[in-house]
Amino acid sequence: MLLKNRLFTPGPTPLLPAAQNAMAAFAAHHRTADFKALFTRVLTDMKDFIGTSNDVLVIASSGTGAMEGSVANLTSPGDRVLVLTAGKFGERWRDLAKAYGCQVDLVEKPYGETFSLDEVKAKLTPETKAVYVQATESSTGTRHDVQGIAKLVRANGDDTLFIVDAITGLGTTHIDVDGWGIDVIIGGSQKALMIPPGLAYCAISERAWKRMDSTKNPRYYFDFRKERKSNAKGETAFTPATSLWAALGAALDFVRQMGGGDLGAGRKALVDNAELAAEMTRAGVAALGMKLFTSSPGAALTPVVSPAGLDSGKIVKEFRESFSAVVANGQGDMKGKLFRIAHIGYYDFLDTIGILAALEHVLATVTDKPVEYGTAVRAAQEVFARSRTRELAGVSGGKN
Ligand SMILES: *Cc1c(COP(=O)(O)O)cnc(C)c1O
Repeated sequence: MLLKNRLFTPGPTPLLPAAQNAMAAFAAHHRTADFKALFTRVLTDMKDFIGTSNDVLVIASSGTGAMEGSVANLTSPGDRVLVLTAGKFGERWRDLAKAYGCQVDLVEKPYGETFSLDEVKAKLTPETKAVYVQATESSTGTRHDVQGIAKLVRANGDDTLFIVDAITGLGTTHIDVDGWGIDVIIGGSQKALMIPPGLAYCAISERAWKRMDSTKNPRYYFDFRKERKSNAKGETAFTPATSLWAALGAALDFVRQMGGGDLGAGRKALVDNAELAAEMTRAGVAALGMKLFTSSPGAALTPVVSPAGLDSGKIVKEFRESFSAVVANGQGDMKGKLFRIAHIGYYDFLDTIGILAALEHVLATVTDKPVEYGTAVRAAQEVFARSRTRELAGVSGGKN
């Protein structure tokens, strides 16, 4: 059959056509009234997308740039910080904090697990200057309890900042940034925002802005205060990725339409969409007798353990060769052991059903176990039908 290239990876994710068109059409210089208008509108909309009243920065870099900035701006050499890590991205926090000379306390769990709140509480001290965590650990598909951890950090006092890498969490997870007291929340353009890689964004609390006045670590390109000062004049400190800003404007309009004209409602609808796709995918995978890699799956992606004795690379390769569907292998030590199906952003019913139908064929091809066609699809259909019944009865959680 003809093949369409489709991404089922936890970033980059499928692109929104309206955003691609907006990018291609945009040619304004960044120091013009046209760009300024776009810039100001997007920064305001980003607050609604994130769900915060804190100032938001959008920077030309991959997501890791905002992670690095959240260490460089908020710490001084020798500062005691707590990193919660259970995967490749948690390790990135650890390595960044070490690179900036912090004294790093760790709550470390095996890949696929999450932290107990008691362990986190035990590692918090009056000297802890900052706590770093992921909302969703994309390398394992695990959702961490951001709300529970936020409560502990806030109880530790105003001297402890709470920084959340929600690069795959934003747009797939309900997060009350201001209500829970998150000081910095970080996202990336190539995830739920449905546009290409190249922009990192973050929302920063007043408590965190104030910290930057006394911290001593070096910073230049990722100097958040410099960027904020320029933003107040409707400008960026350096040349912005103008075409990506145009794409972002179109993507935010799309999310607003999902919410019937209300961007906050659109964000919730986008999260509910990911939740439903994830629930359908989990049901399909379970019906095929396969196991999840995590006991705490998020809605961003579904991590599936490869059947015993089978390198997951074979599954990934078969998806690509037979269906031109790109799913992700495990990373690092997890390579060969699992594969990851993402449902982040521009991702719908037919994508969800399609990848499960393809999975049935992939398994039939790469294993000698018989596969009854329709098993995964049927389970997902039933989840979808139940959610529709709820929605038609007006009891959907998705609309408020
Ligand atoms: C994608 C991702 C990142 C960012 O990686 P970049 O390649 O720098 O964009 C960071 N953390 C998580 C949890 C991610 O999923």
